[in-house]
Amino acid sequence: MAPTSTRTVIAVVGGGIAGASAAYALVRHPSGPEVLLLEAEGQLGHHTTGRSAAQYIENYGAAAIRPLTRASLDFFQHPPPDLCDGPLLSEQAILTIGGPGQGDAIERLLAAGRALNPDIAELSPADAGRLVPLLRVDRIARAVIEPGSSDIDVAGLLQCFVRGFRAAGGEIATMARVDAASRSGDEWSLDTTAGQRRADIVVNAAGAWGDVVAARAGVAPVGLTPMRRTAFMVASRWDDSCDWPMVANVNLDWYLKPDGPQFLCSPGDETPSEPMDARPEEVDVALAIDRINQATTLDIRSVRSSWAGLRTFVPDRAMVLGPDPDQPTFIWCVGQGGNGIQTAPAAGRLLAQLTLDGDPGPEWGGFDLDPAGLAPGRLR
Ligand SMILES: Cc1cc2nc3c(=O)[nH]c(=O)nc-3n(C[C@H](O)[C@H](O)[C@H](O)COP(=O)(O)OP(=O)(O)OC[C@H]3O[C@@H](n4cnc5c(N)ncnc54)[C@H](O)[C@@H]3O)c2cc1C
Repeated sequence: MAPTSTRTVIAVVGGGIAGASAAYALVRHPSGPEVLLLEAEGQLGHHTTGRSAAQYIENYGAAAIRPLTRASLDFFQHPPPDLCDGPLLSEQAILTIGGPGQGDAIERLLAAGRALNPDIAELSPADAGRLVPLLRVDRIARAVIEPGSSDIDVAGLLQCFVRGFRAAGGEIATMARVDAASRSGDEWSLDTTAGQRRADIVVNAAGAWGDVVAARAGVAPVGLTPMRRTAFMVASRWDDSCDWPMVANVNLDWYLKPDGPQFLCSPGDETPSEPMDARPEEVDVALAIDRINQATTLDIRSVRSSWAGLRTFVPDRAMVLGPDPDQPTFIWCVGQGGNGIQTAPAAGRLLAQLTLDGDPGPEWGGFDLDPAGLAPGRLR
């Protein structure tokens, strides 16, 4: 009879950036677990991960997740060369502008930014207009520039995790939706559309479907709300716009990001949704066009392509990372909201430490990380 493996078997449910980064970190853990990545769709990254604005912004998101953004920077800047075909970050500052009546919001952004990065600074409206010549300078009251912000190669990042995961012996199953998970003794049994699998530990990285997967495993929800966000592309008529910063209104009710010869635009919408394959609504595209045309001379008349994705939050807008308080072999990795790409390298590492060591590793000392602010128990 073949000897039974004593390696811990971990099934990661969901092959977006959260599941891929967790799977990559888990399979490389010194304890040598067997890791299986289960994805419902035919390809990884099909849902929210493939639909983002792909920006790294240090001065963004709930306080509890900012250490994860900062701790991810080293991986973005120095990814394993054998796993990546090129750099994962390209410098692209973010310029945030506020109109009359938005001075307080700019002040708060500046205060939070200066505590993180001394290069985050106020600019005069005229200087903002010199940086991004399509802005209507007379509508700007105050402006802030964050030079450390960057564009992220999301496909390259996902590929990097997938290559590293496979190279370390990880197994990926696509078209493998988890429809039920039950425990018998110390083991999980997972019914998937690609057959039955067993695992000692289940990691729930199912994005908008996080609470659905928990319910299928008999685990109480953490209270996730998927929120639809719309994006679309318009042509640029400026030859050098690809060198301009991304621009956002301080209330985030519109933003535009130079992307080659185009601009990626968004109304910054947050419409609660069921977990689904999100589609853009014409009204949201129209709203963004109106707001951007008022603030700029872009004069958008047509849209090249549009899409929507679900940014999924719990009420405090921090992530949910770590073992379920009632079912410790069910590990949460959800609630990435609008930060899931920029935090992925560090979030995956932290998740592996919490799952297999029980504690964050010593590397977090310099990052002011508070794991309790991410723990699922805070939501029960
Ligand atoms: C317009 C927009 C702009 C954004 N901009 C940024 C940005 O600039 N920077 C940033 O960091 N983040 C940004 N985000 C957020 C970022 O995209 C998300 O935080 C991140 O992609 C979430 O990744 P995920 O893996 O949790 O979710 P997903 O990519 O949705 O992955 C979840 C996966 O789980 C799978 N799944 C679900 N149920 C099951 C099941 N039962 N069995 C198996 N698999 C299952 C799904 O098929 C899916 O592939 C943006 C998002 C949007 C929509």
